[in-house]
Amino acid sequence: MRFLPVFLDLVNRPCLVVGGGVIATRKINRLLKAGAEVTVVAPELCDEVQSLCNDQKIRFVAADFSSMHLDSMVLVIAATDDEDINRQVSELAKSRNIPVNVVDNPKLCSFIMPSVVDRNPVQIAISTGGASPVLARLLRARLETMIPASFGRLAELMGKSRELVRKRFPDMNERRRFWEHILQGPVAEMLFAGQGKAALKTLEQQLNDESHIISNHGEVYLVGGGPGDPDLLTFRALRLMQQADVVLYDRLVAPEIVELVRKDAERIYVGKERNQHALPQENINQMLVRLAREGKRVLRLKGGDPFIFGRGGEEIETLSAEGIPFQVVPGITAAGGCASYAGIPLTHRDYAQSCIFVTGHLKDGTMNLNWNALVQPKQTIAVYMGTHGLEVLCSELIKRGLPENTPAAIVQQGTTQQQRVYIGTLKSLPEIPKQYEVKPPSMIIIGEVVKLHEKLAWFEPVGNTD
Ligand code: SAH
Repeated sequence: MRFLPVFLDLVNRPCLVVGGGVIATRKINRLLKAGAEVTVVAPELCDEVQSLCNDQKIRFVAADFSSMHLDSMVLVIAATDDEDINRQVSELAKSRNIPVNVVDNPKLCSFIMPSVVDRNPVQIAISTGGASPVLARLLRARLETMIPASFGRLAELMGKSRELVRKRFPDMNERRRFWEHILQGPVAEMLFAGQGKAALKTLEQQLNDESHIISNHGEVYLVGGGPGDPDLLTFRALRLMQQADVVLYDRLVAPEIVELVRKDAERIYVGKERNQHALPQENINQMLVRLAREGKRVLRLKGGDPFIFGRGGEEIETLSAEGIPFQVVPGITAAGGCASYAGIPLTHRDYAQSCIFVTGHLKDGTMNLNWNALVQPKQTIAVYMGTHGLEVLCSELIKRGLPENTPAAIVQQGTTQQQRVYIGTLKSLPEIPKQYEVKPPSMIIIGEVVKLHEKLAWFEPVGNTD
């Protein structure tokens, strides 16, 4: 090992940065974040450092660097674009045994600065020993995606509860088991989901568990899987998918997404074809409750966003009534996904100032919609579940006042490699499914914005061969 990783306590300690430009800014900010007392020596400052100086966050010495600036400093960073000055800073600091870092020049450094994943108070420092800062940054980006942004809250809670837990579990092994349980269970997930109070309460409950054996509490994650492209999952969705014990998914969730669920998790298909639910909604609600009661981490995976035409509300109402902990993870809804991948902005300064999401589900051959709200000028209409009622939809909109030639699109299997976009007008749209085999799921988008498809289409699905 060429370098020893250490974490320095620099709170209120005098540190010197030589240079006041853009490169220096980054270093100054990092020192300030660590609570250091920063002095900057430079003939002049860039705007950002100048504003730090104006706010009295740093002390500024307007001068060329000289040896006396090192007096009483505990750490020095040379960040000028003049190699001679950088070298001089390095040599002088080394001769006085002051740790010195020279930006982008490991040979002149007595310490190097790692790439940091900051989940305060948790800090993950990455170093390649100066060999490749780019590699360190790539690694950092990977870790950033794996570790929830709110990870620090967990460390804070652990720090606060440490004494309590030590008293409750004097035996070190028992204590370790307790913490492992907390870190992998509902308490951690509650914290990540911003449910701080519930997390603390659950932790206390588990501490007071008289049996000494920590009871296994189940929980439910209601997760939006997005419109199809697995790349559009959120970090949180993916993380929960990889730790769930059982997953309930329906037809709308793309197989590639189900593939990403933890390999040994139980997978339950709960159907939801049009008009023929494999499982009635009530049974799904009850199943979620039962599995959570068995102590399982249950992931209810839905297409798109769970709260947009996804009956997510109904499912968690039951959970809430039964006192089962749950959280909801939003997903990209079909309208957003299809619009982006078809190059049809849902709003646009020139064409649409609002966008309305409706379901075109037919009931007894009619569509129960607030037509007046739909036929407003400069508005995009995104219709979910609308292909079966396409004729009713288009003719009603025309009857209520939208021009026949209003541009309209059907986006089939949006965001997937099977995506197809059919463009027409309100008048011609119902003809499209007669001419082509339009496959579900499909979204209908109506409004002037559809015109932009021609210019803005960018996505080229490989499964679409025309
Ligand atoms: N909760 C989901 C919507 C469920 S309703 C969401 O937020 O997206 C189901 C309807 O969504 C389908 O009938 C179809 O109109 C639309 N849909 C879902 N995924 C789609 C996709 N990949 N492409 C086009 N439409 C889609």
